[in-house]
Amino acid sequence: MEIAIVGAGIVGIATAYELACDGHRVTVYEQRSAAAEEASFASSGLLAPSLLIPWAAAGVGAASTSLLWGRQPAFRMVRGAGRAEYAWLWSWRKAARSANAATTLAALEQLGRYSLERTRKLSAEFDVDIETSHGMLVLLRTKNDIRKIQPVPQLLRDSGQTIEEIDADTARLIEPALSGDVALLGALHAPGGESANCRLFAQVMRYAAQELGVSFVFNARVESVSTHPATLQIAGEQTPRRADAVVLCAGLASAALLQRLGLHLPMAAVHGYTLSAALREDLHAPQGTVIDPVHRITIARQGQRVRVSGGAELGHGGGEHHPDTLQKLYSALSGWFPGGAQLSPQKIQIWRGARPTLPDGAPAIGPSGIPSVWLNTGHGASGWALACGSARLLANQIAGAPMAMALEAFSAHRF
Ligand SMILES: Cc1cc2nc3c(=O)[nH]c(=O)nc-3n(C[C@H](O)[C@H](O)[C@H](O)COP(=O)(O)OP(=O)(O)OC[C@H]3O[C@@H](n4cnc5c(N)ncnc54)[C@H](O)[C@@H]3O)c2cc1C
Repeated sequence: MEIAIVGAGIVGIATAYELACDGHRVTVYEQRSAAAEEASFASSGLLAPSLLIPWAAAGVGAASTSLLWGRQPAFRMVRGAGRAEYAWLWSWRKAARSANAATTLAALEQLGRYSLERTRKLSAEFDVDIETSHGMLVLLRTKNDIRKIQPVPQLLRDSGQTIEEIDADTARLIEPALSGDVALLGALHAPGGESANCRLFAQVMRYAAQELGVSFVFNARVESVSTHPATLQIAGEQTPRRADAVVLCAGLASAALLQRLGLHLPMAAVHGYTLSAALREDLHAPQGTVIDPVHRITIARQGQRVRVSGGAELGHGGGEHHPDTLQKLYSALSGWFPGGAQLSPQKIQIWRGARPTLPDGAPAIGPSGIPSVWLNTGHGASGWALACGSARLLANQIAGAPMAMALEAFSAHRF
């Protein structure tokens, strides 16, 4: 088939690669001049366990999470937030408490494992160093902190993953640079935890896809998609481009493109921040990933850099950075790993990006219900962790091949 993909973020590139592996002729249309310039640009890099990524799913920590109020609210409303954002937040709360929450978590867990396997296999095939680091610690200051990630630990254990409860001394043996000054009760340790550089992988995969014959058309903004037959209208072009099928991987913009086709996908831009700092001293830096579940901050090693991440803002915020959130990230990095990174402003990359998030945190993968239009979008806080698996599953679905897992939890019609 002739397949058009909208969007060259990590999800669009992975989808293009998998469809090309299956023998389709694939063209990717991207509005920016390069790949992975939007949400996939500087994500925190966490791959596994995907459910431990903060904001991965509404059902995580639902019993103890205050959404907007209290000392550590999960979200912050910023400039531009209006009725739509409040309504979305209400849907998130509803999804967290719904009878389907456990099913969604189980499906996300399965997709995370499947995707990790695919990501590992592909990076071995591409034979590149994607700055992988191993091991993940969830730091616990009090016994109550573990409530913030319930019921994930048991879910991971039930699926055969190792999650150990360890004391503070053992945590400091695993991450020797963890500051002794910070009061720590203990940690959860995921020895199979993994982080890597999403943008780097996306770029390598783009070239691998090109070698399989995929065409990338940059600076091409898709204004609309039509069906019967499937066409894409590119901004500035007279004639719509034809395809046998279209896959929407346009992150946040997928919802707007679908709206014009009559399908409402309740997606919100949940903005967050990453600070990337060059290593100062290896011995004082994290070796793997460390998560603070109360403040929802992650600190991960990426090659010769350390990346700290956090914040969840609803509203465009005028594109401005929130000083308090940035300060929290700086404090977390220098507090947990003093002397590990170079914190002078010239050496730090600050990035504010938007997680394209559906109310339960899970993506939409599969047929849209509109003829010839398929979806692989809305991966929220875990698009890097889920991209390779989602792409393989979608390719199998298009091929009518046996599925490695059921996709009901990812239907676009579940809302
Ligand atoms: C602060 C932060 C930390 C994160 N940390 C992690 C993490 O640790 N682990 C993890 O798994 N995930 C993480 N994520 C989430 C992850 O980055 C996203 O889920 C993922 O990048 C989404 O990929 P995507 O390809 O769907 O979207 P994008 O990367 O946004 O790609 C969509 C592409 O579509 C293009 N496009 C849009 N509209 C059009 C149009 N009309 N025509 C043509 N092209 C169009 C865009 O330009 C863009 O390139 C994080 C996100 C943020 C913001």
